[in-house]
Amino acid sequence: MTQSPVRTAYARCASYRDRRLLRAAIEQVLAVQIEDFPGGVSGKRIMLKPNLLAWRREEDVACVHPAFLLESARAFLDAGASEVAILENPAVQTAPAIIRSMGIADELAAMNVRVANFEHFEKASLPANARFRNLELAREYLDFDAVCDIAKAKTHGMMTLTLCVKNLFGLVGGSGRMGWHLAVGRDFAMFADMLLDIYLTVRPRFNLLDAVVCMEGNGPGSGAPTPRGFVAGASDALALDASSAPLLGVEDLLLLRSAERRGLLTPFLYAGDVPERNPLLLPDPPGMLTEWGVPLPPFLKDRLRNWIISKPLLDPEKCVGCGLCVKMCPPQSLKLEDGRPVFDLPNCIRCYCCQEHCPKGAIVPKKTLPMRGLERFESCVRFLFGK
Ligand code: SF4
Ligand code: SF4
Repeated sequence: MTQSPVRTAYARCASYRDRRLLRAAIEQVLAVQIEDFPGGVSGKRIMLKPNLLAWRREEDVACVHPAFLLESARAFLDAGASEVAILENPAVQTAPAIIRSMGIADELAAMNVRVANFEHFEKASLPANARFRNLELAREYLDFDAVCDIAKAKTHGMMTLTLCVKNLFGLVGGSGRMGWHLAVGRDFAMFADMLLDIYLTVRPRFNLLDAVVCMEGNGPGSGAPTPRGFVAGASDALALDASSAPLLGVEDLLLLRSAERRGLLTPFLYAGDVPERNPLLLPDPPGMLTEWGVPLPPFLKDRLRNWIISKPLLDPEKCVGCGLCVKMCPPQSLKLEDGRPVFDLPNCIRCYCCQEHCPKGAIVPKKTLPMRGLERFESCVRFLFGK
């Protein structure tokens, strides 16, 4: 049976300031999804899973914007949802603390929207087409009729972009996340497979993408804000990622290649006011050839990987010696010496957790010389033979 295409809906929204326009844009991209949701959302319990990485300053683009979150909650309540709750599991702060720093705690409380951290993690019941068997996920999402995945469009040192599928990694517990980075962090394609397994398990029925102001450059924690002026939504997180990545300048996202290889990509069609392609400035990428697709014996692959793949690099001018990067490093390849982090590069798995969580943007993935050479070679091959 041919699968009918998923409608990925787009609406323009120039800023977060005009709540009325923001709300209209969110409602517009949600309407398609509510239409596709059996029985609508009236009387249903909806869990919002926003990307709340960390809130460190006003208008921090590491998170879904507070106004976007408020208006999304309001849209579900106005559509008749009996309960809306916000659950997330930020790595450093708690979800309620971030919501308080954002200044929206009172407004959410007045709307009866509960905010909580995921607390209960258990071995998930995985679908037959999952690659991994031992995923522990927050169990709270099972108490709701539907999950709404609310992602921020950001660049990402390891996965190039973080959109809706990557946002679901927040359902993995803190120590579990470290464990996954250790277990599959050396192989980005396996990491992508693990993200796809989470997507297959949770299957959020509603998905929203905050691309009003995106993050580019040193994402996902310390990149620069860059306006793109749109909101997007679809009932399938993967279809939404596949539809929005090219608009942000990434035609060849590893996550999507993995999904295609596994036969998970659903056809989609663009609906609404689709923005022009406007590429984000990407971080120095891990590279395509380094995540190989080239059959090499594992011992050689590991050695070459360490030699070639982008290294985390410290900008001592920006570093304040807080030690958070040391705490967040899964294989403990970082230590603080004289108030500055020092990398043990042979043991570094290039997961860029240090870069992701540094509150000062003092760590960047830096392309190596061999990587630059390989990328030139890769461009020539692509030019000559296509994808
Ligand atoms: S690099 Fe960043 S996270 Fe690490 S000690 Fe310096 S400021 Fe803190
Ligand atoms: S030093 Fe950074 S990139 Fe290397 S393993 Fe630790 S957190 Fe990951």
